[in-house]
Amino acid sequence: MPEPTPTTPLPALRVYDTLGRRISEFAPTAPGRATIYSCGPTVYRDAHIGNLRSYLMADWLRRFLEAQGYAVTHIKNITDVGHMREDVLDRGEDKVIAAARAAGMTPQAIADHYTERFLHDEQRLGILPATRFPRATECVDEMIAIIERLVGSGHAYEVNGNVYFAVATFPGYGKLSRQQADGLEESGRAAPDPLKRDQRDFALWKAAEPRRTLKWFSPWGYGFPGWHIECSAIGHEFLGDVIDFHTGGVDNIFPHHEDEIAQSEAAFGHRHVRTWVHGQHLLVDGLKMAKSTGNVYLLSDLEDRGFDPLAFRYLCATAKYRTRLNFTLASLRAAQRGLERLRAAMCEDAGEPSDETEARAGELRREFWTAAANDLDIPAALAVAWKVARSGLPTATRRELLIDFDRLLGLDLARPPVRNKLPADAIDLLRQCHVLRQEQRYPEADAVRAEIIGQGYEVRQTPASTVALPVPAWRREEPGISSSRDVDSLLQQNPQVEYTVSIVARSGCRELERCVASAETWLQGASAEVIVVDNGFEEECQAFIDDVSAGDERLRLFRADHFLGSAAARNVTLRQARGRFVVFIDTSVEVKGDIFTPLRKMLEDPTVGVAGCWGVQTNDLREFTEAKTSGDVHAVEGYLMAFRRSVLREVGLLDEKFRFYRHLDLDFSFAVRSRGYRAVIDTTLPVVRHEHVDWMATPPEERDRLSKRNFYRFLRKWEKHPELLSAGR
Ligand code: AMP
Ligand code: ZN
Repeated sequence: MPEPTPTTPLPALRVYDTLGRRISEFAPTAPGRATIYSCGPTVYRDAHIGNLRSYLMADWLRRFLEAQGYAVTHIKNITDVGHMREDVLDRGEDKVIAAARAAGMTPQAIADHYTERFLHDEQRLGILPATRFPRATECVDEMIAIIERLVGSGHAYEVNGNVYFAVATFPGYGKLSRQQADGLEESGRAAPDPLKRDQRDFALWKAAEPRRTLKWFSPWGYGFPGWHIECSAIGHEFLGDVIDFHTGGVDNIFPHHEDEIAQSEAAFGHRHVRTWVHGQHLLVDGLKMAKSTGNVYLLSDLEDRGFDPLAFRYLCATAKYRTRLNFTLASLRAAQRGLERLRAAMCEDAGEPSDETEARAGELRREFWTAAANDLDIPAALAVAWKVARSGLPTATRRELLIDFDRLLGLDLARPPVRNKLPADAIDLLRQCHVLRQEQRYPEADAVRAEIIGQGYEVRQTPASTVALPVPAWRREEPGISSSRDVDSLLQQNPQVEYTVSIVARSGCRELERCVASAETWLQGASAEVIVVDNGFEEECQAFIDDVSAGDERLRLFRADHFLGSAAARNVTLRQARGRFVVFIDTSVEVKGDIFTPLRKMLEDPTVGVAGCWGVQTNDLREFTEAKTSGDVHAVEGYLMAFRRSVLREVGLLDEKFRFYRHLDLDFSFAVRSRGYRAVIDTTLPVVRHEHVDWMATPPEERDRLSKRNFYRFLRKWEKHPELLSAGR
């Protein structure tokens, strides 16, 4: 790395400290040295790009300090035990683990595998490798030593081979997060842990269960460390008594870092971290990216779509680390474009040197580093890079500045723009096209041009030249919608047709075809429109969806660029609905006769808010029984659900937190009923319910988990409305 230019001393870094709750200026403890500890990856699965956003933040911090001339020691632990519970392993999370288990691979081999992939991802993102990546399993002795110390000083106690930290002995507990554990979340239990003296206490050491292979001998018998203790031990072992910066995502604040503070300060008797730096989350569809939510992208997913991994780095550079960032493929596309333009600007010839060149360059340099020094404001720094790109300064000066800035940005700005060699036949066509144009035979020239474009190139023509550039993969695909807000809401307009039929496709090619065709058959003659959303529909079904929508004038198809979530996909259809009545049909349903007229008749009764064929009753919001006869119900089931479009003005759209479909229909029915309307079913409607492919495609434990999540969401919302239970029949 080139040395910083001595004429422009860089401003000192000021960063926000989560514990002190204010921005403070960095002053080194040892001259010229800085230390960073980053909570590293858990290696029984791939890191997703949300995790990677956290590591990018740490990388910017480290690069800034290095640009200032500090010798930085950066430690990033690899969590290869503690977090890796047997149940997680047993589930065989993905094909690789399943394959590994089938091949008799050990947890160690699994950890190796994912560690390697993690390091590879970091490298492709331009994240400088940490000085060391200590593995938890290599530091168990250090952890045991700290735990012994804590037991010795009365901060921890043993029960049946488990050791817990006694939170009551550490008065500062809660100072980081202002939170106190109830002990339930961490242990994953629904009931208090009888082994703990105080439910806030957390495990430092766990006794090994009988069949466990990954275990160590300790003063308390065979066992394995709790999750938090590894960071106290590794930080202390590799960085000593005081760590300058400790980084992680905001979800680490509690309980992980709160517990780390308690352990470390109780064991060492002093503050061990000077500045706590926490990065905000990466969101998708407005929810934190997390495997358990099912909205995860891996870096390789982006690469498979033809993106440069550094486009993701650029995207993260456009948001401050303390703000949440909602990821969409559309924003990634914009980032990729921005990155390419910035690289191209490095090479463009423009600007003559003048007397002011030096001074102007110095100003811009100062502006850049000052922006970044202000709580790592990378977006502001990036804006200065753009200012340089457009400054009209001589090429050499611009290059020099941008290469200097790239020490921090890490965007590989000096990479020459891609100029792929054209294959011979494309070159031939290009020549023909050029000659035809010169001969002013434009229609023929256009035909040849179309042929070149058809081969995947874009053609740029000037009077003097004809150039073909390969269209990069990320631009070739027609971009789909990334959220329901990507489609306009037509709800304020008057209805244009009688019925809007809403169909969402996620899985099942034949099911989609059957559903659409059967609905269309019975819509004939009616004034209607059909809206189909391809909600991350299976790749192999794409041809079906094309067939289903081709040549059907009243069918509109919206393609989502990923699975938007069940509620969000329905909301696409609701925002676009122009029918007086909206009818949701699930792809498991086949229409066998005219359902539309009877549904309309039910809804012409102004007291009815939502109608359908299947419904449920409940006494307590917990148990639901299927209604056997026509009439009032507590909720209409979503397989077939109809309502007046105008009711949405009162009730609003569906709650997009329901990504999984279960309870979404109940939630909507309750929302309608809470406005004083009835929910009514007619069990004689001519419809048939087939196997539910979405449900069948979801593994049983996943169904359970997702169902539970939605159930609690539903329960929390509606238990405050007991009046909705007395209605119905
Ligand atoms: P884990 O592998 O789960 O321990 O997470 C590794 C790091 O990623 C931790 O610092 C987390 O706080 C962080 N993290 C997890 N999810 C996200 C997210 N959606 N956005 C940003 N950072 C995240
Ligand atoms: Zn940690």
